Amino acid sequence: MAIVIQKFGGTSVRDASRRDVVARWVYKAARAGDQVVVVVSAMGRRGDAYATDTLLDLIAGDNNTPAAERDLLLSCGEIISAVVLAVHLRKLGLTVRVLPGGGAGIITDDNFGDARILEVQPQVLQALADEGIIPIVAGFQGHTADGQITTLGRGGSDTTAVALGAALQAAIVDIFTDVDGIKTADPRIVPDARTISALDYEEIFQLANLGARVIHPRAVEIGRQFAVPIRVRSTFSESMGTLIAPGHGTLDPWGHRDPAHAVTGITQLDHLMQFRVTPPPNMHKDWAYQLFMSLGENGVSVDLINLFPDQVYFCIPPEKTEIAETTLKEIGFGFEAYADRAKVSIVGSAIQGLPGVVGRVMAAMAQSDIDILQSADSHSTITLLLHRHNMEKAVAALHKQFHLNEEVSKT
Ligand code: ADP
Ligand code: ASP
Ligand code: MG
Repeated sequence: MAIVIQKFGGTSVRDASRRDVVARWVYKAARAGDQVVVVVSAMGRRGDAYATDTLLDLIAGDNNTPAAERDLLLSCGEIISAVVLAVHLRKLGLTVRVLPGGGAGIITDDNFGDARILEVQPQVLQALADEGIIPIVAGFQGHTADGQITTLGRGGSDTTAVALGAALQAAIVDIFTDVDGIKTADPRIVPDARTISALDYEEIFQLANLGARVIHPRAVEIGRQFAVPIRVRSTFSESMGTLIAPGHGTLDPWGHRDPAHAVTGITQLDHLMQFRVTPPPNMHKDWAYQLFMSLGENGVSVDLINLFPDQVYFCIPPEKTEIAETTLKEIGFGFEAYADRAKVSIVGSAIQGLPGVVGRVMAAMAQSDIDILQSADSHSTITLLLHRHNMEKAVAALHKQFHLNEEVSKT
């Protein structure tokens, strides 16, 4: 019998009628003879009673709650969801057992709010599955070796599912969500974005890491590490979704790709803070070293760094603004901080060095009258920093420029 992980996101378990649909997916797999392990997210979105953002809002504006207590609060969302979903599964005659993440064997470090999985102990889940009991695991959480509850970072229920899939050597990890699969762009911005049928881990990781929240980047990393097949699909349709598995890359075995289809997808990340920083007069030429060491020591990680002899531009997440500004003042650097920046990226294997790609990116921005504030690139990505108000326009323009709504025949 094959172990199958089925993970259901917040909108899939939002209300009783949707939970009935979820229950039918579990029932169908169990009837087909699979050993099913269910992973759930908290129910619904901000405003719904027990959604993660609603729980966060309960303590909004308070800076005194220790991170460990915040995690205790947040972990309740997934636990409530698991217990409530169990009611629907039992109604169908299934035998189920609800477990918090730690109880399901997920051991993490103590980086509360963004903990890393150190180990998965699969014995409890394996024993339940062998007895014909369906575990319903609260996603997004684990516990430290000494039993403190942690959470895995926003969107982390995907990571729970793939980590359990790796530890239990699951045949497939099904990530059920509210869209048909991973698309060439966020369908909320580009309604005619195409569903990608299959891809390997690398490009999906880039899409996720640069903002496509349809799957958590760490889930893709774990999937790649343990070669776990992952399918992202809709709870509410029969479509086959997107398969992420080894051997589905867009390059041919020699590392080439049809230049006409060099780009796989467009992704975006909003609400970044951009800084322009200048060293104090007569500062030693190693000023950048002092600057980034100081920011690092204060827990500020920077992104999109464009360094010049006399100034540097970089971005940080907005919640780090205060600490970054305090640090810069302490070390005597000058700075300007700009809120409401957004990052838009194109992702495709081996776009670097492919003549014409950058030109087409620039053409799309010029035709839409969009200013580019900064840029960065890697072998498979080109990222632009823009004013936040241009983000949607830029995503749509790039999607059109690279004809991503058209079907691609693989070379
Ligand atoms: P869940 O609660 O099921 O985990 P999420 O909200 O975390 O769902 O992720 C699904 C959402 O991701 C979609 O509703 C969609 O708006 C968004 N999204 C962003 N980029 C993409 C993309 N490239 N493909 C599909 N969905 C995307
Ligand atoms: N409920 C958590 C969040 O909203 C985890 C998840 O949904 O994956 O981030
Ligand atoms: Mg999610």
